[in-house]
Amino acid sequence: MLIISTSHDPIPLRESIVCGGEGVTLAAHVNPYESAVKQMTNAAKLMNLEAELLEVFSHPRRILTVHFPVKMDNGSIKVFTGFRSQHNHALGPCKGGIRYHPGVSVDEVKALSIWMTWKCSLVGVPFGGGKGGIIVNPKDLSQGELERMTRRFAYEIAPFVGPDTDIPAPDVYTNPQTMAWFYDTYSALVGSDQPAVITGKPLSLGGSEGRSDATARGLSIVVREAAKAKRMQLKGAKIAIQGYGNAGSFAAELLGAMGAKVIAVTDSLGGAISPSGKALDIKQLWKHKNETGGVSGAPGSRKISNKELLALDVDFLIPAALENQITRYNAKNVKATVIAEAANGPVTPEADRILNENEVFLCPDILANAGGVTVSYFEWVQNRYRYFWDQPTVNERLEKMMVRAFDTMHATAGKFSCDNRTAAYIVAMGRVAEATRARGIWP
Ligand code: NAD
Repeated sequence: MLIISTSHDPIPLRESIVCGGEGVTLAAHVNPYESAVKQMTNAAKLMNLEAELLEVFSHPRRILTVHFPVKMDNGSIKVFTGFRSQHNHALGPCKGGIRYHPGVSVDEVKALSIWMTWKCSLVGVPFGGGKGGIIVNPKDLSQGELERMTRRFAYEIAPFVGPDTDIPAPDVYTNPQTMAWFYDTYSALVGSDQPAVITGKPLSLGGSEGRSDATARGLSIVVREAAKAKRMQLKGAKIAIQGYGNAGSFAAELLGAMGAKVIAVTDSLGGAISPSGKALDIKQLWKHKNETGGVSGAPGSRKISNKELLALDVDFLIPAALENQITRYNAKNVKATVIAEAANGPVTPEADRILNENEVFLCPDILANAGGVTVSYFEWVQNRYRYFWDQPTVNERLEKMMVRAFDTMHATAGKFSCDNRTAAYIVAMGRVAEATRARGIWP
């Protein structure tokens, strides 16, 4: 069943403390779409953006809602709800991940698609913003059920996506296997091989070298550049990471290899901190997570909560889980010198204000986690001409684009005397505004 929704109803801002995830996060539920609009409005004021363009940018171009049945292993049929939001395509086809999480909502998907537009623009990738998700706890599903749900979702949104219209990718609780099922289903439906319909695929199916750790690699480049800007030493710097999935775990590995000390990490089940202040053993952490499902209780560590992790006295704090983790309730407790947002939307606008007052150097999500979409773009390019690059080529091109984006943001922050997030938005929105003016409003 297809329901095209174009609802623009304003949603009241809620900011009440609740236990998030699996009971370990003190998360404030701020509507992420409201946050996205607030961030755009802040930049629009400073850059004197036309009010009409701000209005255009404040709404996704279109949102698809699908309700679809899936046969479960016990023979029953369950109906799932999923979304795909396409925010803006002034710079090119929409691009953005697919999330499987019980907290997925239409406003979350809208916000994530808006952030994708600005991220692509900031790093210079010729895509607009898209995002999708299914309301589901994938941990409750068998592998067979996951495959059937993914294939049916691909079928439902197939008319909406394509290599030249909208190209999905992995996000929270989706992975290369999910991408492989999606690619295979889409190709079967259109009757031809279409690897460029989705990125983050396994290497054996046209995935790119360097895609699996691209988000973390981009993040580690941003952290390195932030350290230079703040005249800090990365070697020996203390790092805390919230979220130990694709973005967080690779970040721990890469930053550790650069000489930084990852002293604490958490995931949805708990956390681990080094009691001595020495770096955690990343290999041991991985082994423990694979064996037990979480990082908590890893050998040589002591347990730590998410709340404690966010308030640690570290040089770099890396939120790499979900939205709304640093809010007006806990922002004042942050002691880190630099925050690099691996997650999308982990800091609310209210918290941004407090962090700015406290002179925390924040590397915003649309820069800090842009390595993922950058290498996704590389994968799409390689799929289009079926010629593949080696890993050094991928990493070298990623490095160039990340450093250029950081420098542009930093220079813009200086020029407008504003915080980094607003500066990043000024750059990103300025480019999309220019493209929109050049295209004109048709008819
Ligand atoms: P993932 O599913 O691989 O990992 C998510 C991690 O967050 C897991 O370790 C999970 O245990 C943890 N987590 C979930 N709920 C939590 C909670 N309440 N408290 C603490 N930890 C919790 O997902 P990912 O791909 O690493 O994505 C993480 C973030 O990075 C998301 O915001 C995502 O949008 C963003 N991101 C990911 C990519 C990518 O390429 N994977 C790219 C850009 C941005």
